[in-house]
Order: sequence, then structure tokens, then C-alpha cells
Amino acid sequence: MPTYSVAIVGAGPAGYFAAQALQNLQTPELQFSIDMIERLPMPWGLVRSGVAPDHPRIKTVSKVFEKIATSEGFRLFANVELGSDVSIEELEEKYDAVVIATGSALGKTLGIPGEDLAGSISAANFVPWYNGHPDFANFHVSLDCETAIVIGAGNVAMDVGRMLALEPNELDVTDTADHAILGFKKSNVRKVYISARRGAENAAFTSPELRELPKLEHTNVIMSKSDINAAIERAGESPEKEVKSNLDAMLLITEQENKGHERTIEFLFQHTPVAINGIDRVESITFAVPDGEVTIPCGLVVTAIGYQAASIEGIPYEKGKVVNVEGHVRNNLYVVGWAKRGPSGVIGTNKSDASDVMDKLVSELKSPKNSGDVTELLIGKKYIDQAGWTKLNTHEVAEGEKAGKPRRKVVSHAQAREISGI
Ligand code: NAP
Repeated sequence: MPTYSVAIVGAGPAGYFAAQALQNLQTPELQFSIDMIERLPMPWGLVRSGVAPDHPRIKTVSKVFEKIATSEGFRLFANVELGSDVSIEELEEKYDAVVIATGSALGKTLGIPGEDLAGSISAANFVPWYNGHPDFANFHVSLDCETAIVIGAGNVAMDVGRMLALEPNELDVTDTADHAILGFKKSNVRKVYISARRGAENAAFTSPELRELPKLEHTNVIMSKSDINAAIERAGESPEKEVKSNLDAMLLITEQENKGHERTIEFLFQHTPVAINGIDRVESITFAVPDGEVTIPCGLVVTAIGYQAASIEGIPYEKGKVVNVEGHVRNNLYVVGWAKRGPSGVIGTNKSDASDVMDKLVSELKSPKNSGDVTELLIGKKYIDQAGWTKLNTHEVAEGEKAGKPRRKVVSHAQAREISGI
């Protein structure tokens, strides 16, 4: 019974779905031993540190991840970094196949004056900060201002806008990091603009996210009816299904009465950022608009305009992605998820994507190498296995239970390692 060894680097959705696809392809004649390597002391990637805390239903996919992880032939090696603890060449040599699933961790930048001022931050830092990613526990977010501007018209901009404008007590029952809940409770932000450079018909939001906005209990949501009507006109008589669904959802928002809450999210369309202004910190932002320019005073600017992959030594990158042809990089090296196709799609998109790449990987397998595994590269290095992660997971859930939350995240590398038993 030939058993092929596969190393998957990155324990986020793309990595788990790649493992699942391999598990599903197993037959009595074709078996896989899967070693998943993760830089952080905990797995789940964006499901843990990307998905908004007020969207707990999306996080239930972690149950699927745990089923994959506890299936025979799967091992977790967390707290192991590709590039410093092990090299890609070493993995390629030992394993029959290696799959890169390291995502897109870096925020794209606008390239406009003032972007480096204090108070101008990327969603790529802000989102992991409120989600308790251990690399971002000490990240500084300027919440001492009245007005915040979010740049971008995608679902990340929407998550960021909501998190800034929610009544912070609503976060008490979520797994938002303790430090972020404290920060939001002290926040002076009351007005959040979400700005799109194009019209509403071109927004990248998805309609379920738009439809949930009128349900916010403590936040006014403002969209201009004339903006949306103009967008409907521009979209023409037979717009694409998604565009129509978005515009319908936006029209419903325009029809809402202002509920007179203290906190407001307002959408600005056809606003292209041209400069962030200030001396030592952000004081305002200037947008080009169809009939000229407008400048809006604000103390916080969050760019949510997409992501690109952070490069890892030994792997070829171009335009923020790993260079690949349908997931194949070279020899026995493959790539899945955002590192492969760029930062698009919802979590489930990674399932079909990973499955296609794993079909290709399996069709290209040669005879098993039987040349060892990552443990031989980690002599003297402490790593967290599935049992260690289970200790941390159980600890977080138990701590959460005491506070009426789904979990209370451990946000320090050292504490996470200690609780995991290494
Ligand atoms: P996205 O959907 O690609 O949206 C990026 C937005 O940034 C677009 O509106 C884009 O506008 C704008 N943008 C890009 N460059 C810009 C610039 N220089 N100046 C101003 N605006 C600029 O990306 P995302 O929001 O980061 O989301 C990534 C993926 O994760 C998406 O597929 C998203 O649906 C998914 N996601 C899903 C959920 C959920 O299901 N709840 C939550 C979060 C994320 P243009 O169109 O004009 O380029």
C-alpha cells in the first residue's frame, strides 16, 4: 500500500481544504501522510485572525478543520517557520509533494502622500489586532478621534467599518481580543466613512454583508439615495445578478430612517483618495470626486484595498502571488489559496480551489520517496502538535465560557507556547 508524504505549509482554510482533498482522494492503494506546518503557535489562519468577531457562524468551519486534523495520517507542526526553522528546499527533498498555503498577509498600499502618517493604518494590521493575532497584540490604533475613514469597497472594508462603529458592549459576547474590546470601549470614534473610488454598481461588497447593515442595533447606516439611483441607472437594464442584488440591498439601506444613534457608518461613492494630510498625524483626507475635490477631517484612516503575499525565501513570487500554473510551482511544489490566486473569494472558495490543485498533484505523483519527514529537520526545535493545540484550544474555550464568549484568545506567543506544553 503506497503511502505518499505531503507537507502543507500554512494552517489556514486553504491548507486544511488541501489536506481534506487529499484525504478524500485516498483509496486502499493510495494513502497520504500529511504534515501541516504553521508559523504561529496556533492554527486556523484567517478563520481565527481574519473573520470578523461578530460573524461567529463563519467560524464554525473550524469544526471541519478539527475533523481533518484528527483523521489518521495528519500531523500538526505549529510554531515552525518556513524560511527560518526549515527551508523550502529541505521540504521538497524530504516529501513526495509540498503545498504552499501561506495566504496573503500584507496590505496593499495606496501610494499617496501622507500614507505613512501616524493614524494611517492598513486593515492587514488592524484586523489581526482586533482578532488577537499574537504578532499584532501591541499594534497601536488611534481611536482618540471622532471620525475614521475606511478606504475600499470590499468585505474587509465593511468588517473594519462595522468593528469601528459597533457599540463596543456588543463585542463582549464575541471572541474579539480583550485589548481590542478595551480599546473600542475607550474609542472616541463616532463617525465612520467607508469610501469607494468607483460607483456603487462596482462595489466589491457582497449582498449578505450589505443586507445585515440595517439590522445593526446601535449604529446608523447612511447611503445616499441619489448615489444608488445613479448607480442603478449606470448599471443598465440587465445588470449581473450580484450587482443587482447589491444595488437592491443598498436601496433598502437608503430607505432606512436615521435612527438617531450615537454611532454612524456613512458610505461615500466615487471618492478616490489623493492625499492624507497632517503634520505629525492624520488630520484629514482629500478625495477626488466627480466635480472636484473634497477634504474630510479625520484622525484615523484604514486602507482595506486588498492584500498581497509576503515572500518566503526560495519561493518565486510575482505581483503578490506565488508564480504558478494552475497551482503547480515546480517539480513537486504546489500552491493553493490566496498565495496562488490572490486575495479573492470567501473561505469556501478555497475548497474547490484546493481540490483542483490536489487532483493535479496526485496525477503527477511518482513513486514514494520514503526519505523522512520534518521531524528530522526540527531536532532541538520545540513545536506544537495537535495535542498541544488541543490544550490551548480547550483553555481558550473554557476561559471564554466563564465570560460568556465562544473563546477568550491567548494573544502572546510565549503564553500560547506555555499553555500548549512546550
Ligand atoms: P476586495 O473585495 O478585492 O475589495 C477591495 C476594494 O479595494 C475594492 O473596492 C477596490 O476598488 C478597492 N481598491 C483597490 N485599490 C484601491 C485604491 N488604490 N484606492 C481605492 N480603493 C481601492 O478585497 P477585500 O475587501 O480585501 O476582500 C478580500 C476577499 O475576502 C474578498 O473576496 C472578500 O469578499 C473576502 N471577504 C469575505 C468576507 C465575508 O464573506 N464576510 C469578509 C471579508 C473578506 P476597485 O474595485 O475600484 O478596484
